[in-house]
Amino acid sequence: MEATSVFISGSSGYIGSHFTKFFAKKGLRVFGLDRVASPPAVQSYLQDFLHTDLKNETLVKTFVKKHGIHHVIHCAALCLVGESVEKPDLYEENNVKSSDIFLRALLSCGLQSFIFSSTAATYGEPKFSPITEDHPQNPINPYGQTKLDFEKILIQSSQENGFSWGIMRYFNAAGADPEGELGENHDPETHLIPNACKAVLEMGPTLKIFGNDYQTRDGTCERDYIHVMDLADAHYRLLTSIQKGKQGGAYNLGLGVGYTVNEVVQEIERQTDKVVPKVYADRRPGDPSKLVASNAKAKNELGWTLNYSDLPTLVKTTLSWFKFI
Ligand code: UDP
Repeated sequence: MEATSVFISGSSGYIGSHFTKFFAKKGLRVFGLDRVASPPAVQSYLQDFLHTDLKNETLVKTFVKKHGIHHVIHCAALCLVGESVEKPDLYEENNVKSSDIFLRALLSCGLQSFIFSSTAATYGEPKFSPITEDHPQNPINPYGQTKLDFEKILIQSSQENGFSWGIMRYFNAAGADPEGELGENHDPETHLIPNACKAVLEMGPTLKIFGNDYQTRDGTCERDYIHVMDLADAHYRLLTSIQKGKQGGAYNLGLGVGYTVNEVVQEIERQTDKVVPKVYADRRPGDPSKLVASNAKAKNELGWTLNYSDLPTLVKTTLSWFKFI
């Protein structure tokens, strides 16, 4: 039997590139799409790559038909909370309208399953913690709102068109390929772990800690950091169970344990034996105080196990990546 083909949008990005490698190593035929050229380390795991925007319906249809692809993992998106507050229209255009056009193009090519990279930001300020999948979704920033809007489009479309869907709500994706081939390399970087690692390695500016007056144990925001390889594994498990007849569903993907900004910084200082250059700054607009997942559903239904998401491994793989590049 020929290996399953899977199409990963955003395959040049941080999450999509790790997924590409993970799925290829599992023996699937992986096809990528991105408006950014495919980095050589990723290209080697792809059967073929479509260098275009999600909105390019004609090219998407031709590519998907040519390769007989029926399973899609949709990672391509803008994903920065701060930027989304400044440019809400850009987020609406990219994360909702373009995703909708992409989905419609796929529907005309025999789509069987569509797994969507969503986010804990769809929940907003938690009413209880840890957050379960049925927690009310009241995003407090445009990024979360656009992801929630597309979740709804996806479910509606699945009801109308009969394909299987998965909604994966990532908490804070972090870490890097343990083999050191891939990692997070945004410019400018906005995420905490890479920023703090770059500051301590003198590869970036002094770390700004956004707010120390939150209602958390040390006043800094608390987040649930999840390793990108563990994220990939959850998607693989969902795709496998969809192929066995499961209809899909929404899953929180997090460790189930939160760390404050200060605790993350302390772990980096412990591993490097250096002080992270840092200053306290104002709160960043759009940041909830605390986001911690209940991951029971993914563990119970998908048999998901977490192999890399302890804080020491998250920090270690990120530091190794920055020392390598
Ligand atoms: N953060 C920070 N300094 C930075 C980057 C992030 O203090 O340079 C904080 C941010 O305010 C949030 C947490 O670290 O409370 C995680 O932010 P990140 O941007 O990594 O992920 P997000 O939670 O926005 O998805």
